[in-house]
Amino acid sequence: MFENLSERLGGVFDRLTKAGALSEDDVKTALREVRTALLEADVSLPVARQFVKAVEKKATGAAVTKSVTPGQQVVKIVHDELIAVLAGDDQDPGKLKIDNPPAPILMVGLQGGGKTTTTAKLAKRLKEREGKKVLMASLDVNRPAAMEQLAILGQQIGVDTLPIVKGEDPVTIAKRAKTQAGLGGYDVYLLDTAGRLSIDEELMAQVEAVRDVANPRETLLVVDGLTGQDAVHTAENFDNRVGITGVVLTRMDGDGRGGAALSMRAVTGKPIKFVGLGEKMEALETFEPDRVAGRILG
Ligand code: GDP
Repeated sequence: MFENLSERLGGVFDRLTKAGALSEDDVKTALREVRTALLEADVSLPVARQFVKAVEKKATGAAVTKSVTPGQQVVKIVHDELIAVLAGDDQDPGKLKIDNPPAPILMVGLQGGGKTTTTAKLAKRLKEREGKKVLMASLDVNRPAAMEQLAILGQQIGVDTLPIVKGEDPVTIAKRAKTQAGLGGYDVYLLDTAGRLSIDEELMAQVEAVRDVANPRETLLVVDGLTGQDAVHTAENFDNRVGITGVVLTRMDGDGRGGAALSMRAVTGKPIKFVGLGEKMEALETFEPDRVAGRILG
């Protein structure tokens, strides 16, 4: 994750920290390079611009302390600004609103983004780390094997899935999940909705209908982190239409350029809660802005 961006920024900052006393021009040149590096990582233009502006303002206003060189100080400002852009005001990204059982969590996203895999990963995490009793239900009546896929994952991780009843529509399944979660004493139930290859009216109407009966405590958009600005557009669309409370970026184990992570919060106002780091059931981590900022800066 972030290899290219990290490499680019590393180069810029090496030159900066070696320079000793910095002129205004040195800082300007460095920031221009930062902007280019961000754009190459598929960060959206307004976000890259705003980022550089914020750093520039802080760098010119900063009092030079004796313990660090001016170059190191600029690097520190960039680091802090990265955290600000990544985190927003979300203090606790790994925590979900799941008090008041049974708490419904709605999982939404496009087909192939990793929704079903992430549903199971999240169920495993809630069960093992928080000791929750979890129920999963697949509402995907479109893709023939989707329900079985979730049931198999449930068996693997030891989490119950709602029994499959052929021919039911997603709203009916969501209602059945709610009843079952209440009767069975579950703390949380995860609703894995169907995806489409692209956002279309039918998909959105279906997700809205499910949302209205489930009244979810959290609605998490699962989106492929490798798709850069497309991931951000997808999040905007889902947020406008169904309202999301957070984002899970998958495939962050791949050699993505990292732009989706950097633009997501600034463009959508919604926090990244988790990142997917592989196909295995353990490969889901809390999104930690300071660690990610550290990784970006290498
Ligand atoms: P859905 O259509 O959105 O439900 O997508 P799936 O959950 O079926 O995932 C599609 C493919 O992506 C599967 O082969 C998953 O194993 C894979 N996948 C999901 N999340 C990740 C991830 O974080 N990293 C990697 N490398 N693969 C993932």
